[in-house]
Amino acid sequence: MGEAMWFDPGMCLIGGEWVPPMEGGTLSLVNPSDGSEICRIARGRVRDVDAAVAAAREALASAWGGMAAFERGRILTRLGQLVLERVEELARLEAMDVGKPLTQARNDAIALARYCEFYGGAADKVMGETIPYLGGYTVYTLREPHGVTGHIVPWNYPMQIIGRSVGAALAMGNACVLKPAEEACLTALAFADLAVRAGLPAGALNVVPGLGGEAGAALSAHPGVNHVSFTGSVATGARVQAAAARNVVPVTLELGGKSPQLVFDDTDLDDALPFLVNAGCQNAGQTCSASSRILAQRGVYEEVRARMAAAYGALTVGPALEDLKVGPLISARQKEIVEGFLARGADLPVAGQGVIVDHAPAAGAYVRPTLFADVPPEHPLAQEEIFGPVQVLIPFETEEEAVRIANGTGYGLVAGIWTRDGARQMRLARRLRAGQVFINNYGAGGGVELPFGGVRKSGHGREKGFEALYGFSTLKTVAARHG
Ligand code: NAD
Repeated sequence: MGEAMWFDPGMCLIGGEWVPPMEGGTLSLVNPSDGSEICRIARGRVRDVDAAVAAAREALASAWGGMAAFERGRILTRLGQLVLERVEELARLEAMDVGKPLTQARNDAIALARYCEFYGGAADKVMGETIPYLGGYTVYTLREPHGVTGHIVPWNYPMQIIGRSVGAALAMGNACVLKPAEEACLTALAFADLAVRAGLPAGALNVVPGLGGEAGAALSAHPGVNHVSFTGSVATGARVQAAAARNVVPVTLELGGKSPQLVFDDTDLDDALPFLVNAGCQNAGQTCSASSRILAQRGVYEEVRARMAAAYGALTVGPALEDLKVGPLISARQKEIVEGFLARGADLPVAGQGVIVDHAPAAGAYVRPTLFADVPPEHPLAQEEIFGPVQVLIPFETEEEAVRIANGTGYGLVAGIWTRDGARQMRLARRLRAGQVFINNYGAGGGVELPFGGVRKSGHGREKGFEALYGFSTLKTVAARHG
């Protein structure tokens, strides 16, 4: 198996008990670094989701529902501490499961702990208001949990996404049912095990691994679920929203992107270069906020191209536990998809490419990171989300043209602006259609404090930061007439 697991990966967590799926099936979990089977996981289905939702409902009616906000916060803080104590083990599990280089997986484990700390500390700080109104009335608002929240997460950043969505939902007093991705779910199970050890009451967090079309579809359509948080592809997000709409349930959608960085002539390239390349290659490009388009102004275009090409030449790709810059993709299937995109770029100049190490197992899902240059903005590689280590370089002349190209896809997740001109920074921060704009950086280190989400096809609703606490709660207005 390679890595020690202190929990049984073949189980579901329902009502505080680790139980096998009711219909008994299992799924194979594959290590994308070498194609081997890591273990079998539970194939949860409709009946398991039913049981998980019932257990969550029961938790709301008992210990969990009756708990004071500060006590919920204390449990989350303790959970953060347990995560911190296991950072190395969690990082190794994530590296093996997702194919993510160890350093990146370690950062994700630390981020998971930070989410628990942040939402642990915030649990008792979300307050309503008193509202001045007519004489003889006292009016105030209460922030209340939705009830049972469903969390459907993808395989690319399991720990980060569980931290930001389950962490905030628990802080507000919801009871959660988590459906991790079938391609990578070990850290979801590990986290749930630590949550039990931290003293989270039975049923406050339930985990049902399984296929999207089975456990995921059952959860998003379940009439007992009061809110759904979904992170994943646009097509599935639309399906989840449609399923939840039948129950008139609110949905948060964190979907994909085609996020640009705009590099103006006055950019300090020494400063910008690591951000330009990392934002395309981190997690082998399988990042919703990946910056897959680099727009460079004419005066600096050739230099950006030459320097990025050199950086690509130095990228080595290999097994996740070797902790090179780039690991494998999540699966052979994803490799096929990315190779399909590379083939569609056959008409474009390749400016630079990384190298796969000689000893990389042939059955691993490796692709060479590739930088295309002189890419027309309407080219499919400049329009479609690739979800691989592929970036396109697009020249522009004027600020106006840069804005038009940057806003010229169906997405709107992130945008980066590189310029020393303060007025231009402020102008563009307003004009770019994106959920977050970074000025002279990209990602700001990923801080758990920063609200995150998209516009247009990148989704709606915000997670992370304090904003998520509003999303995972509902507002009640109380008006008392007392004369
Ligand atoms: P996906 O949509 O196929 O799967 C995501 C999750 O949805 C998985 O748990 C899957 O089992 C489940 N699912 C699949 N079909 C379902 C259905 N019919 N009903 C309910 N659930 C279902 O996405 P993916 O290919 O695994 O992930 C990659 C995509 O996710 C990319 O497009 C990426 O941009 C996006 N993503 C977005 C963010 C963000 O924060 N915006 C973060 C990570 C990934």
